[in-house]
Amino acid sequence: MSAIYNPHLDDQLAAAQLPVAKQFIDGAFVESASGQLLDDLEPATGELLARIPRGDASDVDAAVTAAWKAAPSWGALPASERSMWLYKLADGIEGRFDELAVLESRDTGKPLSLARTMDIPRAIHNFRFFAGAILHEEDRALHLPGALTYTQHKPVGVAALISPWNLPLYLLTWKIAPCLAYGNCAIAKPSELAPLTANALAEIALEIGLPAGVLNILHGLGPEVGQALIDHPRIPAISFTGGTATGRRVAQAAASRFAKTSLELGGKNPNIIFSDADFDSALATTVRSSFANQGEICLCGSRIFVERTSYFPFVEGLVDRAKALVIGDPLADGTQLGALISAAHREKVMSYIALAESEGGRLMCGGGIPTSLPESQANGFYLEPTVIGGLPFDARTQQEEIFGPVVTVTPFDDEREVIDWANSVPYGLSASLWTRDISRAHRMAGQLDAGTVWINTWLQRDLRAPFGGVKASGLGREGGHDSREFFTDAQTVCVKIDL
Ligand code: NAP
Repeated sequence: MSAIYNPHLDDQLAAAQLPVAKQFIDGAFVESASGQLLDDLEPATGELLARIPRGDASDVDAAVTAAWKAAPSWGALPASERSMWLYKLADGIEGRFDELAVLESRDTGKPLSLARTMDIPRAIHNFRFFAGAILHEEDRALHLPGALTYTQHKPVGVAALISPWNLPLYLLTWKIAPCLAYGNCAIAKPSELAPLTANALAEIALEIGLPAGVLNILHGLGPEVGQALIDHPRIPAISFTGGTATGRRVAQAAASRFAKTSLELGGKNPNIIFSDADFDSALATTVRSSFANQGEICLCGSRIFVERTSYFPFVEGLVDRAKALVIGDPLADGTQLGALISAAHREKVMSYIALAESEGGRLMCGGGIPTSLPESQANGFYLEPTVIGGLPFDARTQQEEIFGPVVTVTPFDDEREVIDWANSVPYGLSASLWTRDISRAHRMAGQLDAGTVWINTWLQRDLRAPFGGVKASGLGREGGHDSREFFTDAQTVCVKIDL
């Protein structure tokens, strides 16, 4: 189904003049040392959207030098002054809200409505949250007869921040904000597939006069500029969000030189729905957790387990609602599902649909490329929302991350069985549990292999809470005090007291 054209978007589109992205190093926009450019395609049309620099190790060297030059004075600023800079960055994003939302939508294929309600507001919140948090940090003082021991948190100095394409500005600022807040300089690398809002953030840093070298943004390919970052001997900390295979590479590179790492990786999250749950609420949220952002959110629930007594009505409702989702032009009013990030990614997702069928799965809806798109979108990377049933819990389709609008549905009979199935995957990022039995909810939450468990909700986040995964979903936690632990080194000072 095609979406309705919204003439009011014209102003927003005009505001979003396509930028020529450049490297942002030492407070200035510069060409990459390679002089080469990469194409950035618009997922909704398959057309060229922008060109970005193809960074390499020379750009990384320049950014590392700039960041270390700025680090002593940035780290020595009182927290109140760093806080002020973060508020200015947040205000700068807010001041370009419409333009950034359009850029994010065009660069990723996500509905503009989602960029406006999730991505850009969260980027602003990330800066404001840490701007406030650093004003309230405390250190410990420990008393023994004859000695006072206290702790202080020293910035690590310079950190590499590497993020994926699915929530570009949201996730990059989730790293930049605490990195800067706790006194470090940042070298941030967005995905080459969705680099434009990061480039706009660099423009904002320049506009507000953020001291040179505090924030550096490098574009380029992961295996080139990204690899140079994780290998660099003068980068003591790497915060990485992305796929598990890349995360393993980051962990290996960092381990060999004892760099700190925070790894936020893939997921294969279960939604567990008991018959005593609020049916309508569980169904509405499951539709969202399955297909929001085309299923390209690490926290999407891609394995839906429904207690057998509710299985048929629930799956019927899910399929009906999936079929009714409005798919098409991300910029149009009313669009609920946009395009996947790239042709290659859509191919990968579709290969899992074929795999599911070969494993004996039954397509309940979707599975193909929508045929009713307008001509302007005909070369976009669209895919129908897809529900697959009839697969055993250990089929590959139920074990491997797909990262698209594809979910499996499976009936279960009891609590023990569904916990075992939920935990059977290599991942452990999040889980959603739907039941009115609060004792069962608490009991099960503790037994699920998941960094975050949502009970009767999904994607509600308190940024003070630790965020991260277990097993192949990552190492370390970010958010609130955990971000402080990552971006600083705790130092213990012991003072002898003559009594
Ligand atoms: P990806 O291929 O692992 O890429 C993530 C980032 O790493 C990109 O900036 C990429 O650059 C860069 N990169 C690639 N190879 C690298 C290397 N050798 N050294 C250093 N950096 C390298 O992941 P993706 O496909 O962009 O993102 C999807 C994945 O991210 C999914 O698995 C999803 O679950 C996960 N994710 C996890 C979370 C979480 O919080 N746990 C959140 C969002 C997404 P280029 O793209 O420019 O090549």
